[in-house]
Parts: sequence; C-alpha cells; structure tokens
Amino acid sequence: MKLQIPPNIAEITPYPPGKPIEELEREYGIRDSIKLASNENPFGPSPLAVRAISSALANLHRYPDGSGYYLTAGISEHYGVKADQVVLGNGSNEIIEFLVKAFVQADDEVITSHPSFLMYQKFVQVRGGINHVVGLRDMYHDLAAIVDMISERTRLIFLDNPNNPTGTAIPPADLVAFLERVPDSVIVVLDEAYVDFMDDDLRIDTRALISDVAGRCGVVCMRTFSKAYGLAGLRIGFGLMDKKIAASLHKVRQPFNINQLALTGALAALEDRAFYRRTIDGTREGKEYLMRELAILGCRSYPSQTNFFLIDVGGDATLLYEAMLKKGVIVRSMKAYGFDRFIRINIGTPAENKRFLNALQSCLRECGYV
Ligand SMILES: *Cc1c(COP(=O)(O)O)cnc(C)c1O
Repeated sequence: MKLQIPPNIAEITPYPPGKPIEELEREYGIRDSIKLASNENPFGPSPLAVRAISSALANLHRYPDGSGYYLTAGISEHYGVKADQVVLGNGSNEIIEFLVKAFVQADDEVITSHPSFLMYQKFVQVRGGINHVVGLRDMYHDLAAIVDMISERTRLIFLDNPNNPTGTAIPPADLVAFLERVPDSVIVVLDEAYVDFMDDDLRIDTRALISDVAGRCGVVCMRTFSKAYGLAGLRIGFGLMDKKIAASLHKVRQPFNINQLALTGALAALEDRAFYRRTIDGTREGKEYLMRELAILGCRSYPSQTNFFLIDVGGDATLLYEAMLKKGVIVRSMKAYGFDRFIRINIGTPAENKRFLNALQSCLRECGYV
C-alpha cells in the first residue's frame, strides 16, 4: 500500500476519541460514574420522543422520508419560518459540513474564533480552505477583529452564540452593528446550540435576520436537538436560512441524511413542552446552586448563558480532571483550549450536582489547590 494522503488531510488532528464510560469505569475500578463533560441534557431524553421512537421501530425496513416533510413542517410552524428556509442535518454538525461543502472551495477563507467549537475549522481543512482564527477578547467574540480579517476570499464566518466553552453571548446591538459591516458576499453562521438556555433580552431575532437579507450578508442560524431536547444520541439538528442558501445545502446532502427515528423523535420532542420546561428550569436552578456552592469553596465560576460554565480551580486543570475521574466524576479540562486552570462542567441533576461538589472539595485538597 502506498497511500497518497493530501496535505490538508494529513495535517488534521483527529477528534480525541475518548473512551466509553464503561471502559473508564473498568480501568479505574469505579461504578456509577457521572458525566458532566459534554454539555448533554442530564434529565434524559424527552419521554414523548422515546414513546414516538418506540412505535416507529416497526418501520425500520423502509428508507426514511428524504424530504423530512413532517419534521420540517413542525419546525417551520414552531419557529415561524417557511419550510424552504429549513434544512435538516444529522446533528447540527452536518449543517456546518453542508455550508463548507456548498460555499468553500480550495483557498477560500473562513473566519472562526478561538477558543470556540472546534468542528468549524475541521470541515474547512477537509475542503482545502483557509482558516483565519481570531482570539476571543475578554471571553467574547472579538467582532471588530473579525471584521478586520475579512478579505475578498472570505466565504463564511462562524460564531457560536453563546460561545462554547466560555458561555458568553453577543449583545444583540453589537451583532446588528457587526452585520452591517460584513460584505454581502459573506455568510455569517450563528451556531445557536444553547439558545434555549439564554436570557430573553440577549436572544437574537433569528426570523428577521434570515428573512430580510436585502442589501446585506446572508445569515444562517443553526439549532440542535442535542441539548435542551435531550436527543444527542439521535443526531438531529437543523439550520434556518434564506431559501437560496437552503437550496445550495440541499444540493450537497445525501438523500436520506436523517434517519427514520430521528425524524420521528425530534418532532415529538418539539411538542414536548413539559420536558422542555423541566430542562430549562432544572438547568437554571442547578446553575444557581452550583455557583453559590462554588463561591463558598473559593472557586471562581464564570457567568454563562448555557447549560455549562467554566470554573477556575486555582491549579493545573488536567491534574484535577484526573483526580475527579478517580472519584467517578467526569469533567472537561480546558487546558487544551489554553485555559490551564479551568475546567468546564455542564449542569447535572440535583444529585449529580451534589456529588460533583463533594468530589471537587476533596480533589482541590488532594491537589493542594486550597
Ligand atoms: C453541542 C454543540 C452543538 C451540537 O452539535 P450536534 O451535532 O447538533 O449534536 C453545536 N454547536 C456547539 C457549539 C455545541 O456546543
């Protein structure tokens, strides 16, 4: 075998695979571990989604509806947009991939922030595009520096709003001013994976932005069922955008990119208002509780518009991560993102939050950080 690996592929760092929880438990000799590392919904999947999926199982011998007719209709009604402004993805990650496939050719440029969600840059590398990465400023997207980075070859700008991992959201007035300065040949992508957890006064009027694109840049809003709807394992998300942008994305997708169970489950989850409410309220209460208790432990935590937040543990974050792991509490060390003393956790159930705090208290002592 003599592989001819293109240089843009050779230089990609693979996504750190992370072992299944079962393997970690075996290795560390622990049981009943809890995972607060991936911003998942701790309250489980939407029960209505689970029920709908169970009754759809008998149809697995059929190909799914390639147009996603009912889910698209449900989303368009729920968000007050037209069906031709909706594109479904196998996770919102697939919408990122479609955007890059449809709009980025070799040597075209894409602007992202650092630290932010890592997938944007990866798809650009696969396509042979050029990533321009702008550092955050005081934990926020540096919109002025991003405008300065725009060139003739800029095709896309990705902004996760709120940002992962900092949990900060762009003030709406700043976004409006920013969009006025972006040339109309560029598409601005707002990744709103955590929009459901945001304060109302920070929310962007998505519908207006995608519908009225006359004389300014296109805007795409990405949403997911992986967080507030509790369906991360199902892989389903969507984008809201002008119908001309949507038409280009439909050209590059596989006909059956969304599986049958995802179509059924997501539609049921969208209608499960009780579960959604429980998730939003439970997350808010958990966040307030955790931040209060962390202050008592002497750890600084950072305000967040999401279901996760950063904590300054006052010492090497990776050592603390390992100590926590031995106690069966899985958190994320932010060292790889350049925050050497920070961990990121998502809010858990009340029992998980307590267990996290207990483990943290002893690990801070073990590591000599307090
Ligand atoms: C979790 C997350 C997503 C969700 O991706 P899916 O493919 O829909 O699961 C998207 N963007 C950001 C910034 C996230 O943190």
